Amino acid sequence: MYNPMMIIDGRPVLASDGSVHKILNPATGELVGEVPSGGRQEAHQALTAASRAFPAWAATSPGKRADVLHQAASLVRELADEMAVMLTLEIGKPLRASRREVLGSADVLDYFAEEGKRAFGEWTISGAGKSRSLVIRQPIGVAALISPWNYPVDLLSWKVGAALAAGCTAVAKPSSMAPIAASAFIEAINRSGAPPGVINLVLGPGSTAGAELVESPLSQKISFTGESATGRWIMAAAAPRLKRLSLELGGSAPFIVCADADVKSAAEACVQRAFNNAGQICISVNRVYLHHDVEEEFMELAIQRAGRLRVGSGMEDVDLGPLASEEQRKRTREHIEDALSRGARLRLGGSEPEGEQYSRGHFFLPTILDRVDHSMRVMREETFGPVMPVMTFKNLEEAVRLANQTEYGLAAYAYTNSLDAAVYLAERLESGGVGINSNNVVDLQAPFGGWKQSGFGRELSHHGLEGYLELKHVKIGL
Ligand code: NAD
Repeated sequence: MYNPMMIIDGRPVLASDGSVHKILNPATGELVGEVPSGGRQEAHQALTAASRAFPAWAATSPGKRADVLHQAASLVRELADEMAVMLTLEIGKPLRASRREVLGSADVLDYFAEEGKRAFGEWTISGAGKSRSLVIRQPIGVAALISPWNYPVDLLSWKVGAALAAGCTAVAKPSSMAPIAASAFIEAINRSGAPPGVINLVLGPGSTAGAELVESPLSQKISFTGESATGRWIMAAAAPRLKRLSLELGGSAPFIVCADADVKSAAEACVQRAFNNAGQICISVNRVYLHHDVEEEFMELAIQRAGRLRVGSGMEDVDLGPLASEEQRKRTREHIEDALSRGARLRLGGSEPEGEQYSRGHFFLPTILDRVDHSMRVMREETFGPVMPVMTFKNLEEAVRLANQTEYGLAAYAYTNSLDAAVYLAERLESGGVGINSNNVVDLQAPFGGWKQSGFGRELSHHGLEGYLELKHVKIGL
């Protein structure tokens, strides 16, 4: 049983009214832990502590801030096995994926520790030569860091690493669905020399604890990852005080396979990206577009490969764990039923796996559909489940038109061996990240974020650090 507590001003805290929230294992339904369920009051206390800690942390040298972050990265690596088990038990993902996620979060802390030292300034001479312009970057203030359940540790580390390296203090609020490993992550930073109040942890519902972090005059920056609908609410709630915002929202990534592509590697990459984390990734492949000429070969390879994926408890040696909740599974089922009722063809999966070992969890088989079109929900909405819907195209113009026919714009992938086609697609696909012969658009050194309804602002890289800094022009008369 895991029973993390909130951390406010460096101290462990329970909910003032004693409320707790139970976390159940999505593979078995068993109780994994009980976490305090805080509300507006705890969020306010945490923001107050962060405000108090801000001036000293902002004035701490980037090198000293880096020492804390490096130390925390080492501690997270030491705790990786333990934290990976927490993650798998609370959210279902296979243990080796959980371990990768935890170790990745340590890398993020190390990366921002060093990037914080490179918040460079500028120095220019005025036109008449009578003054100098100094441009400096300074931390915005107190940041509210609100994260979702699908990568609870990694996505939180993107925010915490950048905020703390920039000199902001922060309040982290992980999702109520997966707060255990994220709490251990924040605790590790508190145990690594972060002064009290620099990084606080509030656990509780978005509608109360989250809303207070957004609405309170004590927060100057909101960094949010989650659903587009929540993002819209947050933007409106932050408007009266014109708060700085980064919104990382939903996605609907297209995967284009051109006639000249290496079909085998495209099929492998597509299956991997569609079913990784059981499809519960904002950059998961949501829509596959195949050139007519490669359809047969691609489908045969993809069905073979996806058919070999092992489904089961994340504590076993499997490729797909259960979905995180029954709600996820219900939506997956509904999207498949809707597609089939409109003429799609089921090529693989389409149901829960059979057997006693699956009876208490939210398991679902990797599913491949073809003959889909854009009237179907599976092509228009985020399924967030293990479904790979496939349709065909005749030429690149059509592929681009179909790929861009969505309100989202987070990631897009294209496989081709033609340089011309690669550039054509990379320049026309409307999304914050484009993978050319690559099924991943995440890299520590590169900006990550969305276009259109997938949000705005960037995480990772020096652009991610910028999100926590304000520019100041200091004009020096001579
Ligand atoms: P969600 O929007 O339901 O919740 C995200 C977080 O916001 C949680 O911590 C929740 O408690 C909090 N929250 C909810 N209402 C709030 C409010 N009114 N005020 C303040 N906070 C509030 O999202 P989710 O279901 O946890 O995550 C899945 C979604 O996240 C998917 O749409 C997915 O695409 C998206 N996502 C996006 C990215 C990205 O980088 N763009 C990455 C991962 C997930």
